[in-house]
Amino acid sequence: MIKPEVLNRWTVENSEELYGIKNWSSGYFNINKKGEVTISPYSNNEKAQVSIMDVISGIKERGMDMPVLLRVENLLDSQISSINNAFNKAITELGYKGKFRGVYPIKVNQQQQVIEEVAKFGQRYHHGLEVGSKAELIAALSILKDKEACLICNGYKDEEFIDLGLNALKMGFQCFFVIEMPGELDLILRRAEIHEIEPNIGVRIKLSSKAGGHWTESGGDRSIFGLNTSQLIEVVDQLKKSDRLHVLKLLHYHLGSQIPNIRDIRSAVVEASRVYSELVKEGAKMGYLDLGGGLAVDYDGSKTNFQSSRNYTTDEYCSDIVEVVQSVMDESSIEHPTIITESGRSTVAYYSVLLFNVLDVAKFDTMSDAQAPKEDSHDLIKNLDEVLKTLSTKKIQECYNDALYYRDEVRELFRHGKISLRERSQAEAIFWKIMSNIVHCKSSLKQSPPELDEIESAISDIYYSNFSLFQSVPDSWAIDQLFPIMPIHRLKECPNRMGVIADITCDCDGKIDKFIDLHDVRTSLRLHELTTREDYYLGVFLVGAYQETLGDLHNLFGDTNVVSIRIHPDGGYDFVREIEGDTVADVLSYVEYDPRQMLTSFRETAEEAIREKRITVKERTEIVKAYSQGLSGYTYFEE
Ligand SMILES: *Cc1c(COP(=O)(O)O)cnc(C)c1O
Repeated sequence: MIKPEVLNRWTVENSEELYGIKNWSSGYFNINKKGEVTISPYSNNEKAQVSIMDVISGIKERGMDMPVLLRVENLLDSQISSINNAFNKAITELGYKGKFRGVYPIKVNQQQQVIEEVAKFGQRYHHGLEVGSKAELIAALSILKDKEACLICNGYKDEEFIDLGLNALKMGFQCFFVIEMPGELDLILRRAEIHEIEPNIGVRIKLSSKAGGHWTESGGDRSIFGLNTSQLIEVVDQLKKSDRLHVLKLLHYHLGSQIPNIRDIRSAVVEASRVYSELVKEGAKMGYLDLGGGLAVDYDGSKTNFQSSRNYTTDEYCSDIVEVVQSVMDESSIEHPTIITESGRSTVAYYSVLLFNVLDVAKFDTMSDAQAPKEDSHDLIKNLDEVLKTLSTKKIQECYNDALYYRDEVRELFRHGKISLRERSQAEAIFWKIMSNIVHCKSSLKQSPPELDEIESAISDIYYSNFSLFQSVPDSWAIDQLFPIMPIHRLKECPNRMGVIADITCDCDGKIDKFIDLHDVRTSLRLHELTTREDYYLGVFLVGAYQETLGDLHNLFGDTNVVSIRIHPDGGYDFVREIEGDTVADVLSYVEYDPRQMLTSFRETAEEAIREKRITVKERTEIVKAYSQGLSGYTYFEE
């Protein structure tokens, strides 16, 4: 498809541009001279670069197979530093009198390793945790040690949840109960009285400010969470009546995740700051303004207000927030509150990369070896061939419509027995040749008709890959989220194929055919031809947020192997943790099989086959052994 002279001139820079790696990687991922993707966690240290291909060799030497979820601990640290430094810089520059306290919402990636690292590394900034359930609070209490960090309790709270939080408060933690429904207040006050301790109460409000993006409903009047203004006043009055207004210390809202537009963020902060100042005027003690999550990740690198991007930098996000809060407070001469944010996505997205090998490719051209019609060919075939010959940039739409019409006619006649299978096959080959030519003409058009966009993925090669979309990148399937995807080696070679990616579940939804682009969404990805020399590896990047535990056991593909590394400033790195993925027995037991009983039952079946003289005793031993090994093996394709 691409001219040979371009193949020879292809450089690492061409790959950088094609895959946009510099736009979305935040500097953490680069391409080295060998044409391999590297990880560089330190922004000012070029030496500390690790090639992902080296890591894959290390993984294989340790006896693990693809797919692997690779976690890079340093990237978590760098992101925590990044938001704290940006807020602290804004606070200093603007002369803001309050502090910043970040908290990490556990639900975004609950793995123990993540929470441990946040608590350990975050201690230098007093970075705390946000929990939304009892289980998350119990997890947080086993890990958090820093008494100056905040521990924010959102979600619906029963007596047990409240008691756990009150005990944390007693032990010196900055634990806040955020009220999501008016009814919760009573129970908290009652339990606090029994425990003889003053609770820290926060209120979650619904803002009228709306935000664009997938999660628009999380904020706004129609959100299912939080108090509306009359409920808020009810809570204030309830506290006033019992002379407890001093326990109300925090105001919280959460607009939703991945807010791409800074204007939405600003307008929400304005509204919340106004509510905060009114609560102070009502006599509440306050002191904390918790702006929730929403800090977006630029998955496509376009720096726009498109869903998978953001039109602001972290610095702009922080300085806008500080500036707005400051100016609203100053208007009413109110003391500057401690600003809390609950950034989850932007904290952990970079941390994980999904790596897998390609198993096979179904090439499009092998399907479209079109033969020219003969004298006695069917008229419809001749017509199609005519369309193929007359196709030009000016007539794209017309040719597309004609081709579709003739193709459908052919199918109709086939149904009635008027056209043979061989003729139909010839017609369809010409049809696909036309589609393929349309895609090539289309690229020279400024604006192409939308129905033509779909053709591109239809004429792409299919790269069958060793992973499950449903297990490892569920948001790609569930909400069409885009992630940067690219080969992690061979980047000095021109990727001269166009492909879509199919996973190994046998579900037709188990495919990726939407890819990032600076201006648009691409329907195919440029990839390399497979060789017999080596495996071909692809990486799905920025999958650290939300993907791991949302995944499911579609076709009984289980958790992948997980490998964590830590990169040192001198460029060395350690494998700090390996977690073997699920075995077949593991996933079967999740769906209530009993692997031991299964083996017993299979043995009996094999014994029966001996009785029926189908297999020998020796064969039975082999057969049972293979079954048993299958049970204890990896659920993915093994070499
Ligand atoms: C999910 C959630 C977050 C995390 O939002 P991100 O956009 O991932 O930063 C923060 N706060 C609350 C209350 C949430 O429900």
